[in-house]
This record gives sequence, structure tokens and C-alpha cells, in this order.
Amino acid sequence: MLDSSEAQWIHIDVMDGVFVPNISFGFPVLEAIKKHTNKVLDVHLMIANPDQYITAFKKSGADILTVHYEACTHLHRTIHAIKEAGMKAGVALNPHTPVSVLEEVISDLDLVLIMSVNPGFGGQKFIPSAVEKVAKLKNLITEKQANTLIEVDGGVNLETGKLLTDAGVDALVAGSFVFNSENPSATISALKQL
Ligand code: ZN
Repeated sequence: MLDSSEAQWIHIDVMDGVFVPNISFGFPVLEAIKKHTNKVLDVHLMIANPDQYITAFKKSGADILTVHYEACTHLHRTIHAIKEAGMKAGVALNPHTPVSVLEEVISDLDLVLIMSVNPGFGGQKFIPSAVEKVAKLKNLITEKQANTLIEVDGGVNLETGKLLTDAGVDALVAGSFVFNSENPSATISALKQL
């Protein structure tokens, strides 16, 4: 269904039970998904110590690898290691982390992921301040003449999605809204039209 839908990327939430209070899945599941799709695999790591797994995620089929700002002590090094491994590099920000922490690395980033819920579980309610955060990030990207894409993850539906695209979002991540709908493929199309 996803492969024939209008979705451009498949967003994969990897959780380790340490960085977030939940465990999702790892390499074997990612490899299995890769076999069944030609879509871009957009892998969001909600894990502690992501540096030690960069090569393994590349081998498992990740095209974009996003790490959390809050999980990386040496973020600049991590970003470059992801790129050297042959993937696009993203950084995710938890709701409490301001956009300004990315000032020095924004030009190195292919993507910034703004979390509009606290990471760890699906089906949570959208945090409205994420819209203003997107606008701030858009300004930073313009100011630094960077080519970074803005992605938002958490509580995305047609209503919040519209606010986000108006604020300058490039990619919307939707899980529960798509998969709990009667016709997931039509829901994806409706999101694409925003
Ligand atoms: Zn995610």
C-alpha cells in the first residue's frame, strides 16, 4: 500500500528503551522493509549512543539517518560520519530544545526534524509551539543560505499539517493519522495536497 501511495519517504522510528521509554525495532525489521520498497527510508534514531550504529544502519538500507541533538555530545562529528557513510544527515530536536542550538551546524545538515510530541509513543497530541519553531528554523536556514529540509513528526493530521506547511515545512511524518484512517492511501494523498 505504501509503495503504491503518494508517500515519498517511509519514516522509521527506532527506539531503544533508553533514550526513550519504549522499544520499537532494529536492523532485521529495517532490512525486511527495504526488500519490499523503492521508497526513501527515512530513519529516525531515538537511541542513546547513535555513533556506534551508523554503518550498520547504512548496511540495513537507511537513506536518511536522523539522530537526536539530545543524544549526541559531539554532534558535528556524528553528522559528518553519517555523510561519510553515504547517507543524508538529519538532526531531531525534542520539544524543549530550541532551534538556536543548530546555528553552527545548520549548513552541514540535510534535514532538521522538529518533534511536535515527546518522542517514544504514537498517537500523542500535537504541541502547538512546534509551528513557531518551524518558522524560526526556516529563518535560520534562509539566513545561513542552507539547503536544509524541515520535517515535523508527532500529532500530524490535516489540521496541524496545514499550519505546518504554511510555516514552511517540507516533510510531514504521519503515523496514527494514516494507519488508523479508513483509507490510508487516500489520507496520504490528502496530506500531500497541503
Ligand atoms: Zn520519527
